[in-house]
Amino acid sequence: MAPGTNQTGEANRNTQQAFIRQLQQTFASLPNEIPLFLFVQKGRDDVYVDACRQVVRAFRELTDKIKIKEYYLDHEMARKWKVDSSPTLLIDPERYNIRWMGAPMGEEGRSFLEAMLLVGMGKSDLSDQSLQVIRRLDTPRTVKIFVSPTCPYCPQQAVNGLKAAIERPDMIALEIIDIQCRPDLAEQYEAHSVPQAYANDVLIGQGAQQEEVFLSSLLKLEPQTIFIPESTAKVVDVDVLIVGGGPAGLTAGIYTVRSGLKTAVVEREALGGQVALTPVVENYPGFAQVGGKTLVDIMVSHALQYVQIFQGEEVLDIKPGEIMEVATTRRTFRTKTILLATGATHRHLGVTGEQRFSGRGVSYCATCDGPLFKGRKVIMVGGGNSAVTEALYLKHMGVQVTLVHRRDKLRAQDVLANQLPQNDIPVIWNTEVKAIDGKERVERVTLFNSQTGETTEMAVDGVFIAIGYQPAVALAKKIGIELNEDGYIRHDAFHRTNVPGIYSAGDVEGGYKQIVTATGQGAAAAMTIFEDIINPYWKQDKAS
Ligand code: NAP
Repeated sequence: MAPGTNQTGEANRNTQQAFIRQLQQTFASLPNEIPLFLFVQKGRDDVYVDACRQVVRAFRELTDKIKIKEYYLDHEMARKWKVDSSPTLLIDPERYNIRWMGAPMGEEGRSFLEAMLLVGMGKSDLSDQSLQVIRRLDTPRTVKIFVSPTCPYCPQQAVNGLKAAIERPDMIALEIIDIQCRPDLAEQYEAHSVPQAYANDVLIGQGAQQEEVFLSSLLKLEPQTIFIPESTAKVVDVDVLIVGGGPAGLTAGIYTVRSGLKTAVVEREALGGQVALTPVVENYPGFAQVGGKTLVDIMVSHALQYVQIFQGEEVLDIKPGEIMEVATTRRTFRTKTILLATGATHRHLGVTGEQRFSGRGVSYCATCDGPLFKGRKVIMVGGGNSAVTEALYLKHMGVQVTLVHRRDKLRAQDVLANQLPQNDIPVIWNTEVKAIDGKERVERVTLFNSQTGETTEMAVDGVFIAIGYQPAVALAKKIGIELNEDGYIRHDAFHRTNVPGIYSAGDVEGGYKQIVTATGQGAAAAMTIFEDIINPYWKQDKAS
């Protein structure tokens, strides 16, 4: 025996005992009992059942607050709680809907301990920001979190789920699923890596998420990567209010705050505008190839270091004045200047069936809806960069895509256009879509060849439309901003509109509509705003 081994062993034992005493005291201070119901298959005590019994009994030895009951799967309690797999642990099922499918062994012991402490406290212990998010949940969620005992990241995600289930037992049913014990479920949900979280069968998180990000994902039923804190302020005073959270607005926000101007960005929909819907971006300097959503996340994280972002609220009206009053759906902003960076939205074909089948085979977003068409036949309508990029994206994900273009030449850049034949994407030239038809979903399109005058029908499962954008100028028009002949905001070389104190940047100005031009316009507009706030040109005009 090596010298000192005895002392080391002794020290370890002391530390362990101190830890146990601390746990006993913590459990003793909890106000609630912790009922645990273990369900097992009669006559089939496998390794998971044994482990489950050992873990719950070990915890039971620490405190009499834990009350264990064990039932077979054919017991009426199993029917009552709809339990059909062994082992399943229900934690205080009269109050919460939390079930553990497997044994809380290894790393999962940490999540299980946290579960019991939270149930014993009767409190979720969520952060204030998280509480604001979860209180908005108004439809039920069945949450499945796939974990494994050897995964050190899993407890964080499991605890996120536990806290949510404890905070909103009226809305959240949680299943923590050990992929080793339930390989069938892991296979069904393609949970080939852990942790993986689903809500109502939608993947909402891969890997461990920050608590607030997990709850936003749970609320929105889509994976979020960034959490934007919510504000309850009814009135917000700023120097600059930026309307629109795309590349132009976010860049402008970074620049104005760095110039010392108090700034807010208001975005009614998803941040990032059209870029967030672009499958792959290959022409933004510094990124040889980056997913549109990834680029947006990077921009938003950067902008959040400076500027406060108010997402999910729409500007309704602007009252002019030296200090302008901007009413949104949630509050009032008082501001010296406004930057309109409202972007542009996709154009419609305007043919029969387009509106009726929107969301049922007609789509304007290949990134969003492409996976639903894997192995199926679709057309992509358009001849610009968007149509070609998205057709390539669909092809790569296994969709049978044909491009339909109204002329005999593409508008898209050659570097993109050349990839169509390289990827065996057929193009139907000189052809317009005249109608979209089907019963419940898209089944066929009527095509008109402008060269031959021929009308044909083509059987398809989907119609993707990428035929350009229309500027989002409803608000601009409402407040008397002049538009140019193409319907975009008229502005001078410094991004000033005809209304003093109101500026524009990005796609709403027309022009090239590139991410890099939008960010440049945002930066330039921000610098003009800074100079005008220091030295207002409209006051000089009055004085002269
Ligand atoms: P776009 O460049 O305006 O192209 C629109 C395409 O749709 C054109 O080919 C046009 O045909 C066709 N079209 C328009 N109205 C139509 C109708 N009613 N029926 C059938 N076809 C119709 O629009 P975009 O491709 O969406 O691109 C918008 C901007 O974003 C552009 O500046 C583009 O360069 C940029 N963008 C860049 C990238 C990139 O660089 N990776 C990716 C996407 C978008 P005609 O050609 O006959 O007019």
